[in-house]
This record gives sequence, structure tokens and C-alpha cells, in this order.
Amino acid sequence: MLLLSEICQFTSLPYQLKRSARRRSVALQIRNGALTVLAPVAVAKQQIEHFILQKQHWVERHLKAQQQSVVTPDYLLSALLPLLDEKLQLKVVTDKVSAVSRDGQTLWLQLSARVSTGRRRQKQLDLLKSWYQQQAQQWFTARVFYWQQQMQVQPADIQIKNWQRKWGSCTSKGLLSFNWRLMLAPAWVADYVVVHELAHLTHMDHSPAFWQRVALFYPEFQQAKGWFKQHQHLLDLC
Ligand SMILES: [Zn+2]
Repeated sequence: MLLLSEICQFTSLPYQLKRSARRRSVALQIRNGALTVLAPVAVAKQQIEHFILQKQHWVERHLKAQQQSVVTPDYLLSALLPLLDEKLQLKVVTDKVSAVSRDGQTLWLQLSARVSTGRRRQKQLDLLKSWYQQQAQQWFTARVFYWQQQMQVQPADIQIKNWQRKWGSCTSKGLLSFNWRLMLAPAWVADYVVVHELAHLTHMDHSPAFWQRVALFYPEFQQAKGWFKQHQHLLDLC
């Protein structure tokens, strides 16, 4: 019985079937959390499903791994918030006014009793977002100050932005901008963005000369770029 229910559950799994005259055998492909079956034109659907069934554990394992890796974690639900290289324990309490305060490794989130139940989650996210923005302002100010001395450049000013999927920018007037969401990344990754933007004060493009300058001050820049490719979905609160 157990086996039967497993079969039913499994065959209800959606997959895309791609038939090709050139194919000699059935093959499975998992990309972006979805299953695709590549099959020769003449193979019966029943045979294909039998093949999937044989590979059930492989498919499930890979689907699960990929689906987990593309979904932004629910930091509120886990009550564990990343802040550069630290993890802060989130504690939510009801109080007279709404506020966020840090005490060691604990982040206290006071929610005003006047916030209605339906609005509580959004209010928590809003409070955390502005707290992270303050952290970003302080951290980037300090790191830009450090790196501008190393690199012998003078930015005009810095500002913190709320972009969805953009991490930093530099204008021709020397205004540097950084996304507050970088506070959810490891410090070495956020530092790479600082060096990248400061290098634009010397080269306003992504020419080989620009990358040479980045490499001079930040030799691990390729690893940092790789980190963004793999993990940028982690950089949001929800
Ligand atoms: Zn750039």
C-alpha cells in the first residue's frame, strides 16, 4: 500500500516532456527546480513514467536541493537574522511603542499593541528594514573610509538604497550607493562591493583596466562574484 501511494504521489509530479527524433534514450533533467524528460519520439508515455519511477530518489533529492536554493528563506519564521558575519536571535514582544534594539546577539523587536494582528508581519518587516538600513549606513561609512585610504581615492558621499536586485553604484560625481540588503551577506562579500564601486572612481566602466584595479585591492573578487551568482536570493527579508 505504501508503495502504491508513493507511486501516485510521484506520478502526479509535474514534468515537461520534450521529444526529439535524434534521441536514442530517455533522460531526466532538473533545472530551476523543475523536471524535464527528454525522450525519443517512439517511446510510450507509460514507459517514460516507469523510467521516472526508477529514478524517483534521484529526482526528489535534486528537486528538493534546487527548490531550497532558489527560495528566499523566511528569516522571521526562523527567528534567526543574518547581519554580516553574525546571526542574531530575533525576539518579538508587544510593548507601548514599536522599536528595534540590539542586546548582544539578541535583536529585540517591540511591536506596539495598537498594531492589528493582520498587520503584524508587515510591521515587523518594515521595522527590521529600517533597522538594517541604519546598520548599512554605519557599516558602509566605515568601510568606504577604510578602502578610500587604501585605494587613494576620494568619493563625494555615500547613500543607502532599497533596490531589489542591484548592489551598488557610483556616479561620475563620485556619489556611491549601496543596497542595505548587503547587510544580510557575509562581510567579505559586502566589502567586495565597496572596492568595486571605489574602483569606478578611477575607471567608470568594466574594462580590463577596471578589473585589474579591483584585483589589486581585492584579489578574491572572482569568488565574491561567484557568491552573488549562487546566493543572492538570500539577500532579502522575505
Ligand atoms: Zn561596476
